[in-house]
Amino acid sequence: MKDPTIALHYGYNKNSEFTIHPPIYMTTAYEYQDTDHAARLFNLEEEGNIYTRISNPTTRIFEKRISALERGVDALATASGMAAIFYSISNLVKSGENVVIANKLYGGSITLSTQTLKQFNIKAKFFDIENLETLKEVIDENTKAILFESISNPALAVADFEKIVEIANEKGIVTICDNTLATPYGVKPIEYGVDIVVHSASKYIVGNGSAIAGCIIESSNAKEKLKNYEQFIKPDESYHGLVYLDKFENPFIARARLALLRDYGAVLSPFNAWLLINGLETLHLRIQAHSENALKIAEYIANKGYKVNYPFLESNKNYKLAKKYLKYAGGILSFDLGNYEKAKNFVNNLKIFSLVTNIADSKSLVTHPASTTHQQLSKEELISAGVPEGLIRMSVGLEDIEDLIEDIGGALEKIG
Ligand SMILES: *Cc1c(COP(=O)(O)O)cnc(C)c1O
Repeated sequence: MKDPTIALHYGYNKNSEFTIHPPIYMTTAYEYQDTDHAARLFNLEEEGNIYTRISNPTTRIFEKRISALERGVDALATASGMAAIFYSISNLVKSGENVVIANKLYGGSITLSTQTLKQFNIKAKFFDIENLETLKEVIDENTKAILFESISNPALAVADFEKIVEIANEKGIVTICDNTLATPYGVKPIEYGVDIVVHSASKYIVGNGSAIAGCIIESSNAKEKLKNYEQFIKPDESYHGLVYLDKFENPFIARARLALLRDYGAVLSPFNAWLLINGLETLHLRIQAHSENALKIAEYIANKGYKVNYPFLESNKNYKLAKKYLKYAGGILSFDLGNYEKAKNFVNNLKIFSLVTNIADSKSLVTHPASTTHQQLSKEELISAGVPEGLIRMSVGLEDIEDLIEDIGGALEKIG
């Protein structure tokens, strides 16, 4: 099956049900046939649903589809992208060990790694995603995970997958790639040897800014590396001494579900899983349209003489990597209007673009980081963080391109 067919049909046997579209199993729990059946389920001798914190039939359809689209072996849905990232790291890294993270990363992933994980005695160390010699240098004997983004949010650096994977494999360290901005139609990290893929499904997957959600996908490569991870080869007392690597074909997702989701509990609502199923049905069409609109806008603004950051612009420093790895570069771009006042006036004069700190909605969004997400930083700090005071970030939506360009052109004219 090709991807769009997977997205529309995989993992749901419509012939055996009453509905053509997957139903929402809005239930907390499931009835057992008898006490023996219940005992078998609890002892993991038989697969089945016990309680929706651990599994749910609607959510399972989404998990099967996203796993197939990313060429994984299994997937776990979570309540948010942040939960997916937290579970992926904490499935690998224990107290006293460390995670190595890309310097250009979603802000939430940086604070999780450098601040919150500190309380679990887990350290975070940075490497420069645009200079992979630094990755070799920061890895030590306690490094248990490497986290990076295929296209980084918001800096739009493009990962050199083959080089990162080569370095990680030499040391037997599991790689985690956040593929939110590229989507599985832009790039499939697992095809380049990445072990674990995560998504904020709140973005392109749900597609219209209607739900917070996340997911984790395990590749077939992961199992071999997990032989070096104590928690996968030693008995888990909470399941009568179960050994994840012996018991499961897909030990990473099995442990994330049976231990982390069971105990930390950031489960996705079946209703939101159903929204994600709907989103996946049209993701291939949307990501193409977002990318086409974004490239046209990037070219239009560049032609006006402003410095534009978009991976598929030939002038972009990531252009070569982007063309090597990406089929679509997505809808996010940024450009510098030179100063704070101009940037503010530009945003205030837009009519179709909404001033929102989110990305990857079907509707076009705009942010001015210096007056919102980065307002605590000084002028100098803004520059070193790569967000000069005149920087505008756009998430280009699915509106008609002529309307969007007219909107941008009008706002640019007003600021002179
Ligand atoms: C939004 C985002 C996240 C966080 O996801 P939530 O669903 O908001 O928790 C993580 N990574 C990237 C790249 C994102 O854009």
